[in-house]
Amino acid sequence: MFDISMTGQKHLALDRRKFLGIAAGLIAAGVLPKNVLALAGPYTFKQGDYDVSVVSDGTLQLPVSLIGPDAKPEDVKALLGAMVQGTNVQFEASPLLLRSGSEVILMDTGSGGGFQPTAGKIAGSLKEAGVEASAITKVIFTHAHPDHCWGTLGADGKPIFANASFHMAEIEWNFWTAPDLASKMPKDMEGMVKATQGQLAGFKDKVAMFKPGAEILPGINVLDTAGHTPGHVSFELAGGDGLIITADAIINPMVYFPHPDWKFGFDADHATAMANRKKLLDMASTGKKKLLGYHWPYPGIGIAEAKDGAYVYVPTA
Ligand SMILES: [Zn+2]
Repeated sequence: MFDISMTGQKHLALDRRKFLGIAAGLIAAGVLPKNVLALAGPYTFKQGDYDVSVVSDGTLQLPVSLIGPDAKPEDVKALLGAMVQGTNVQFEASPLLLRSGSEVILMDTGSGGGFQPTAGKIAGSLKEAGVEASAITKVIFTHAHPDHCWGTLGADGKPIFANASFHMAEIEWNFWTAPDLASKMPKDMEGMVKATQGQLAGFKDKVAMFKPGAEILPGINVLDTAGHTPGHVSFELAGGDGLIITADAIINPMVYFPHPDWKFGFDADHATAMANRKKLLDMASTGKKKLLGYHWPYPGIGIAEAKDGAYVYVPTA
């Protein structure tokens, strides 16, 4: 079901699952063409002053052994269900598009063509959302891992989002741009570090840095969720009781809502990551705030209900 907003943009109203179910039936019956779901565009909703679209960069395959490495593998697999494929787990990768007035903001740029063959698909999603890369006014990063920032430069080494300014937490920028970083990391991470440094160098003249606690744009507040990386941040978007854009502070809701103290293999500092994960879940459940996750099953929006000292994930879209 659709409603037409005051700005004339199409919004998928609350009951996306019902819409998808009805559409699937009509496609099977030959009433609707198969590409109708793509025509519906990315999941879009209103949050405060912003129209938020969950765009897709595709999917990522990670070794399932990274999820709760100290937990029993069968317990992890039971929680992840069909996301587990052999020894891998398949996760979504979903940057966000935020539109308000003249601002067209992209939150993270995806993986680009150099990470995994199933990712780097953001251009198609932006097109479905009706946005040209040149129309993006600001790119805001949650952190500088490959699946969040390698989609920034084109083949010519220049930013794909040619008219945008770029925004990253100061700690994150300083960590990744340190000239001696590659030599301090494990040998097998050297290529990743250098590729990330190449991306950041491509927009170093157009970068502005921010700190946790700042309101970087009206209604967009920075939350310190260090741990996954040294300068990882989440954002709280004003409107209603608030929406927390977790990014990778909570990699997967099925596993880490019930077990917020389980480790995630790609967290740089497990204790800090765990403390900040718990902080977000507590904030969300006591404040009735919605949560949105970059790698959660699409579109990845839900609430955290406190239960027995942990949380239950209740998707709301
Ligand atoms: Zn990620």
